[in-house]
Amino acid sequence: MQQKTFWMHREQQEYPIIRGRHSADAAVVGGGLTGLMTALWLSRAGLRVALVEAARLGSGASACCAGIASVCGGLRYARLEKRLGAGAAADYARTQAGAFRALRDLAREQGPSSGWRDADVHLTAEGESGARRLEQEAQAMMRAGVAASVAPPSLCPLPAAAALTVRDMGMLHPMRFLRYLAAQAVRQGAKFYEDSRVTSLETNMVHTERGSVQAPYIIIATGYPIVNTPGWYFLRMQQRQGWLLPLESAVRFEGIYLDAEGRYALRNLRDGALFQLNGGPVGAGENRTALEAFRRNYAPALGCGEPDGMYGGAECVTADGLPFIGPYSHKTPNLFVAGGYGGRGLVGAMLAAQIISARVLGLPGDGYDLYGGQRGGVTPRFVLGLAGRYAGGLTTRHWAPRCPHMGCRLVYDARARIWECPCHGSRFDDIGRVLSGPAVHDAQVRRSK
Ligand SMILES: Cc1cc2nc3c(=O)[nH]c(=O)nc-3n(C[C@H](O)[C@H](O)[C@H](O)COP(=O)(O)OP(=O)(O)OC[C@H]3O[C@@H](n4cnc5c(N)ncnc54)[C@H](O)[C@@H]3O)c2cc1C
Repeated sequence: MQQKTFWMHREQQEYPIIRGRHSADAAVVGGGLTGLMTALWLSRAGLRVALVEAARLGSGASACCAGIASVCGGLRYARLEKRLGAGAAADYARTQAGAFRALRDLAREQGPSSGWRDADVHLTAEGESGARRLEQEAQAMMRAGVAASVAPPSLCPLPAAAALTVRDMGMLHPMRFLRYLAAQAVRQGAKFYEDSRVTSLETNMVHTERGSVQAPYIIIATGYPIVNTPGWYFLRMQQRQGWLLPLESAVRFEGIYLDAEGRYALRNLRDGALFQLNGGPVGAGENRTALEAFRRNYAPALGCGEPDGMYGGAECVTADGLPFIGPYSHKTPNLFVAGGYGGRGLVGAMLAAQIISARVLGLPGDGYDLYGGQRGGVTPRFVLGLAGRYAGGLTTRHWAPRCPHMGCRLVYDARARIWECPCHGSRFDDIGRVLSGPAVHDAQVRRSK
């Protein structure tokens, strides 16, 4: 039931289905980059970790990761400085840089098979106003302690008025890296279970259909959080569509290019390039139009006709562009949430591992509160947008199956043959089996008599 991925397609199950009752010091729900990095960090600290994955390790958003590791992306520093002040932007810069270094060290520890390559990141923008915004971003970054410079983008393969460059970022092979994380965690004694979807939680227990784990600490690393309350994350996060398009015949270029507006990312591969096209909310029907948008807007400049494949996924975003990492709520100090990286999940997942293990081990974490799940920063526009989609999903007059998560009407994507929830982004195959959350149960896709 996994999606086809650009990096690998592992059919075989490597770890057992969980059966019966188990106990651990920490239960991690979800085996993507976040779950695996957190499991590795906690097990290196000496905790007994059990990780429970609904499908295969790395079968969620991580399967779609383009492998770009960067401390910048979008125009975050200027926005953060404006909203929360220079101190917050400096905290952001420090915590991102710390997570980036730890990620790079781990990739280098893995050796050549991680595919790690140092590369400069260029944030590009179009038009005069775009160039001005890049200038402002570069200044905010420098005030926060990140070295950045803006120049005309002489080598950029796509049209741009200016590029903001941050040196010495990097890229890797996300699936090989993920498998290394898993192997290292298992060596430290972590227990992994696949094909084991968590369907309910208690204070110190996670349950699947066939088994359970009792643990004082529970980490929800399921991408979109599967627990609605406490935390109310379903009103504060959205799943957006993204695609990877390998381009074997693209023009040659060096480094990594990220669109400042978040529409695309571009990196080179040993053979050609990898283009990441970002879209709107899951369920908005863009699977049909994305390829056309690529052909029209990007293919001519990249010197390629058709992409050599197209692989879809979804990424969680938050209103203020910062991920949610920390306790689920004030009342649940031992239940953790980690997600909403807005397309920068490699550094984000490492940050989650660092923050959560610091919390569990009682270590200080300077700047970690910035990411707390209970912070404000939810703009009325974002909430109204989500609430509008939710109300629309609940009240639509067309018959369609309802999502078992919160009851929205699903929409059918005939091209991909999947049902999608326009409210929170759950997906189901055409007979209703849940492919990705936040839903934890199958949908009833036939009209009952
Ligand atoms: C097209 C695209 C390109 C991207 N490129 C980059 C990039 O270049 N660089 C970068 O840093 N980031 C990138 N990202 C973002 C990055 O891939 C994600 O942020 C990151 O993979 C999220 O990891 P995760 O572990 O939090 O979530 P996921 O990878 O989604 O993992 C969650 C796991 O939880 C499991 N799960 C869900 N529900 C349950 C349940 N009930 N019980 C048990 N398990 C459950 C799922 O099966 C899944 O395996 C990209 C994203 C997309 C969509």
